[in-house]
Amino acid sequence: MIDEGRKLLKQYYGYDTFREGQEEALTSIIAGKDTFVIMPTGGGKSLCYQLPALLFDGIVLVVSPLISLMKDQVDGLLEIGIEATFINGTLDYIEIQERLDHVKAGKYEILYLAPERLEMLEMKLFLRDLPMKLIAIDEAHCVSQWGHDFRPSYLKIRHFIKSLDKRPTILALTATATPQVQEDIVTFLELKEPSQVVTGYNRENLYFAVEKGVDKTRFITQYIKDNKDDHGIIYCSTRKEVEMLTELLIGKDVKAVKYHAGMVDHERHISQDDFLYERAHVIVATNAFGMGIDKSNVRYVIHYNMPKSLEAYYQEAGRAGRDGLPSECILLYKTGDSRIHKFFIEESDLSSEQKVIKHKKLQAMVDYCHTSKCLREYILEYFGESEPVECNFCSLCKDDREEVDITAEAQMVFSCIYRMGQRFGTVMVASVLAGSQNKKVLQFGFDRLSTYGIMKERSIKDIQELINFFIADGYLHMTEEKYPVIKLTNKSVNVIKGEEKIWRKIQVQLKKKEDNQLFEQLRSLRKAIAVENSIPPYIIFHDSTLNDMSTQLPTTKEAMLGIKGLGVSKYEKYGDQFLQCIMDYTNDHPEKTIANKVIKDHQDKVPSHLVTLELFNKGLSLKEIATARELKSLSVEGHLFRCYDEGHDIDIAQFIPQEYKEEIYQAIDKCGIEKLKPIKEVLPNEVSYTAIKAAIILKENKTI
Ligand code: ADP
Ligand code: MG
Repeated sequence: MIDEGRKLLKQYYGYDTFREGQEEALTSIIAGKDTFVIMPTGGGKSLCYQLPALLFDGIVLVVSPLISLMKDQVDGLLEIGIEATFINGTLDYIEIQERLDHVKAGKYEILYLAPERLEMLEMKLFLRDLPMKLIAIDEAHCVSQWGHDFRPSYLKIRHFIKSLDKRPTILALTATATPQVQEDIVTFLELKEPSQVVTGYNRENLYFAVEKGVDKTRFITQYIKDNKDDHGIIYCSTRKEVEMLTELLIGKDVKAVKYHAGMVDHERHISQDDFLYERAHVIVATNAFGMGIDKSNVRYVIHYNMPKSLEAYYQEAGRAGRDGLPSECILLYKTGDSRIHKFFIEESDLSSEQKVIKHKKLQAMVDYCHTSKCLREYILEYFGESEPVECNFCSLCKDDREEVDITAEAQMVFSCIYRMGQRFGTVMVASVLAGSQNKKVLQFGFDRLSTYGIMKERSIKDIQELINFFIADGYLHMTEEKYPVIKLTNKSVNVIKGEEKIWRKIQVQLKKKEDNQLFEQLRSLRKAIAVENSIPPYIIFHDSTLNDMSTQLPTTKEAMLGIKGLGVSKYEKYGDQFLQCIMDYTNDHPEKTIANKVIKDHQDKVPSHLVTLELFNKGLSLKEIATARELKSLSVEGHLFRCYDEGHDIDIAQFIPQEYKEEIYQAIDKCGIEKLKPIKEVLPNEVSYTAIKAAIILKENKTI
């Protein structure tokens, strides 16, 4: 039966292989065993109950707490040709009756229900008569008070199951479950000796970063600017911040919408749809947003504030990159972010025992922001996974930003704070350092301090950011009063004495991307179809599917069906349009097709530099080769020089622009050939290193 499953996977979903854990889960379900699946967000849990729906006679019942998700999933299923429906409070009585009639008539493979429905007598009676082999309970952690989304109605699911004449197989699924929550799930859903399928929490495609003490709004505007084609979520902790940040972004021409619980349903709906349908690029939201958002191409999730627990953080951040493509999760941390959470815990009417739990969770979150080990490892350890992971993809493991010595600045700041008597807040200290004429500064006579205006070339905002960095790194301490003041710590004393240096990584653009014209064209086509059919673009195809098309360049039906994420039903609906788009593109860019063919033919069989040579001999430019092969131009050059060294026939003289030829030779004479950089520096910018290298080789050959 699992082979049958594999066939359906290809036919309906367009995927060749199961993801980790899926086959194991399916095998267990097929064998009629209760199954407990723990897979990270985006891991592919839905498939574990959708495929059985195709394999089994009768209907699969899916209990899900997320109303918006139901519609999304049903839309997605209908797109790939699987009959499914949902029943929840968004429908009126007549619609519900209609759907129930169809269910009864056997029209659907899958029925989604909110847990509350299972408590209703009428529904119970209705479901009792259905041929039902499997009940899937999604977001199963909702059954536990230790989790983060406790839903009392989840506790009643077991009563519903007991009321059935014949107990179906039960499948529980969750993404976040600490050991305590796992125990609760098994107990409260009364799973019978379930097979546990745990693939772990790791999300390899997510890049994690913590940015401490940066100017948050500035960081965000810059980030969005650098990634303007991408879609992302920005989480803030308060409505006020959501409002403020949305305004600010719109003012900078960013297509941003807002989302928080203070808006009326109707407004929230519009915002959410704008984001899902890609009319907006950015959604600024409180944690009210996101439950059940399945948008697969969220490329970044930025947290404007630190959330209250790592569970909450990982869930929110995990909404990035469901399609498996590299995506970024950035947490902007500022000392004091935890204060508001502490306040809410203390003010809540939780029992003192529960308050202790909440404080512990909060502390773990704060520690994440300060940890000096791998962020991914920290998260995985928190969720009870101790296997070390190969990370190299978080801000602590992979950090090629430049480190700058900022000891001198630190000394200025620290001694200024000292001279001001350690009695003032960030703004005041920054004002004095910047040499502000502010009334308060003059009143206190701070303009007579030796540190007054010693940083006058920087803005007050800039200096504040620097101070925040020192606080976040423990060099300064900010008191917890209503008007917090900045004090020195032992660490800063060492710096003043000159016993310790401070280095700071300087922020550079986080992502650099190749531009991919065809991908953009396919994306526009997808958008147009989405608008026409009123469905979100990612329901038509994932970014990863478009990506695959743009590199594979399929031009036949067979080739198109080989694309990941493209099944028979989607081919029938959209295949022709996308094929046409690809063919138009390859007609305009014949070199891409050539490159593609050569690369494919040689896959792993021919040394890389020789593939480059073949493309070069076919007349592709260095840049075209670089793009086609996803290499840096520098590597392409390297390949060609290597071929030249190995005696292949390459005319490297063509790398040297004629109009600069003389100048280049002169520069080489003047600077010698020890190092390339001095030569490059005396020449105009347009002259590339390639040109210089080529000139040296030719010159050397000549003189020898
Ligand atoms: P989860 O519910 O675990 O968060 P989903 O079931 O929504 O994850 O799946 C996430 C994405 O992974 C979906 O877009 C789905 O199409 C894709 N996916 C699922 N299974 C596979 C597979 N075997 N191969 C490739 N992609 C898959
Ligand atoms: Mg899911």
